[in-house]
This record gives sequence, structure tokens and C-alpha cells, in this order.
Amino acid sequence: MNAADRERYSRQILFTGIGETGQEQLLHAHAAIVGCGALGSFQAAALARAGVGHLTIIDRDYVEPSNLQRQWLFEESDAREALPKAVAAQRRLAAINSAIQVHAIVADLTAANIAEVLGDAALILDGTDNFETRYLVNDFAVCRGIPWIYGAAVGSYGLVMPVLPRRTACLRCVYPDPPEGVQPTCETAGVLNVIASLVASYQAADALKILCGRVELVIPRITRVEIWDGGTRQSAMPARDPECPTCARGEFPYLEESRRPPVTLCGRNAVQIHETNRLLDLEDLRRRLEPLGQVRANEFVLRFLAPPYEMTIFPDGRTIVKGTSDPGVARSLYARYVG
Ligand SMILES: [Zn+2]
Repeated sequence: MNAADRERYSRQILFTGIGETGQEQLLHAHAAIVGCGALGSFQAAALARAGVGHLTIIDRDYVEPSNLQRQWLFEESDAREALPKAVAAQRRLAAINSAIQVHAIVADLTAANIAEVLGDAALILDGTDNFETRYLVNDFAVCRGIPWIYGAAVGSYGLVMPVLPRRTACLRCVYPDPPEGVQPTCETAGVLNVIASLVASYQAADALKILCGRVELVIPRITRVEIWDGGTRQSAMPARDPECPTCARGEFPYLEESRRPPVTLCGRNAVQIHETNRLLDLEDLRRRLEPLGQVRANEFVLRFLAPPYEMTIFPDGRTIVKGTSDPGVARSLYARYVG
């Protein structure tokens, strides 16, 4: 470490939990951030300022005006230009810390690209907004023995849970399957910026412990925070499930692309998501979507207009998204509005 680094990171070096040895490790560490929205952009800024030497950021979305309320890295000009979030993040991070390397990937994380995107990382931070990607990350992380930190925030509520393969329970030990039905999302239930940054701070704190070589300081617990009219509850993570398909039996179904609902182009400007097992209450979904755009629904189909897109959603979860031919955009809209 040179004199400039010693000065720049002096407050972390003085902090006994990190010290000069820990800082040296951070400068050579590689963390991956999956999803660069409210959680991911805060995590990225925190790790970049802390001097984590190499960041990989993958995100499939573009900056929109409604992101600026909580996505700390982005500015009005990014939304005006509709820059990909990964690219806007990379530019901003270069201004924050020009000494680190940021690898920006504008893509949907899939079974096909996950090894290439995350394979070199020592740690994965969850900044996603959907369970499909989290189960994929869990399979990959357990398979490769890479720690990952699950985080989620919606409304004024958030949850954080570290997964240390072969040491703690994994996502599937705790939640064997993704949740059923319509889920609250930031689009339908709103979100406070302070809960997102708090969840991201908990995640980044565990990330720093792991990256500076103090993984033993990560406490295997689930942190639940209600920041508006509640408090913080922390409970020990359950023990590893000896029957867990992922971390006990070593089955990684999410790493097989066939597990994911396939997507096909239909027509010139529409994408179909062939989900068939996601039983949806269309009446419930109609109530959630009505404040956001025009909705027409009966018991067989729900049609939702969110210009320039139109979504046609069936009770088994199958969905046609008109207005795009990009499968990543279709999956993103599905995650936003259905959960
Ligand atoms: Zn498990």
C-alpha cells in the first residue's frame, strides 16, 4: 500500500476491525453486485469508497426518473439519457474512486452467463428485485462455495441474510421454494429510500468483513427491519437442512436453463413468458396495478397498460409483454409488477 492509499483509507485502517492488513485485502478483493437498483447502487458506492479493488456489476435495466428517489448513484442526466444502470454506475464509481476496476455488464443474469459473470468473485451481493434470480444465485454460490448476502426491501420493510456455503443454511434451507402468487414490489407497494440504504448497509457490512478476511465475524442471523412504525428483529438462522436439495444433496436445478420459464418472441414486438406454475389471484393483482395504469381483468385474463408496454397476464402466471422484443425487458417488467 502506498502513502496515498494509507491517507485515503486512514479511517478504515484506524478501525481495529479492518486495520492495515484488512485494507490491503480489500484493495485486492473482487465483489460482484447482482442488480444495481436501490440496494445495488448503495452497495457499489460503499464498496468503491472502502477501496474494494474490483467490482463486477450486472443489471438489465435503464435509469428512469422514478429511480432517483432511492438509487444513490444515479442523477437526472442518467434518467434523461435512459442510460443502462450498470453503465451509469460505472461512470459514477470512476469519479468516486478512479483507482478501482469496475466491470459493468448490461444483461439479464441467467444460467447461461452466471459462471462467466460471477465465477471470479469472492463474494456476491444481492441487489435484485426477484426470487428467480436469487434462487439462481443461491445454486451458483453453493455450487462454487462463494458467500452471498441476500437482501430485500419493499415499503418500509427489509430483510437481510448472509449465506456462507457449507457453514450456514442456504436460501433453500430457509425458504425451500420461491413464494407463490402475487408479491408486493416497489412498483406496487412503494419503497422508502432509507429502508433500502439500511438493508444495503447491513449487506455491505458483512461484505467488508468477508472481503477483509474476517468471515468468522459474520453472524448467521436473519435481520428484519420495519423502519417506519416498527423496529429491528434479529433471529438466528435455522440450522442447515440435512435434506436441502442445494447445500446437502448438491442438486442445482436453477443452473439448468430449463428450470426457468422459457421466453419466446411472439410477433414483431412482443415477448411471451411461459410461466405455468405461478398461480395468480388476478383480482388481487388488479387492485395492486390499478393505481399504476389502465387495468382490465376478468377471471381468465388481466390486461395492464404501462406505456409503452402492455402486459397480458393469465392465472397460471403466463404473460405476454407487448412493446418489446427484448426478453430481459419482459422479465424485468414481470418482476416489477407481478413480483
Ligand atoms: Zn441449503
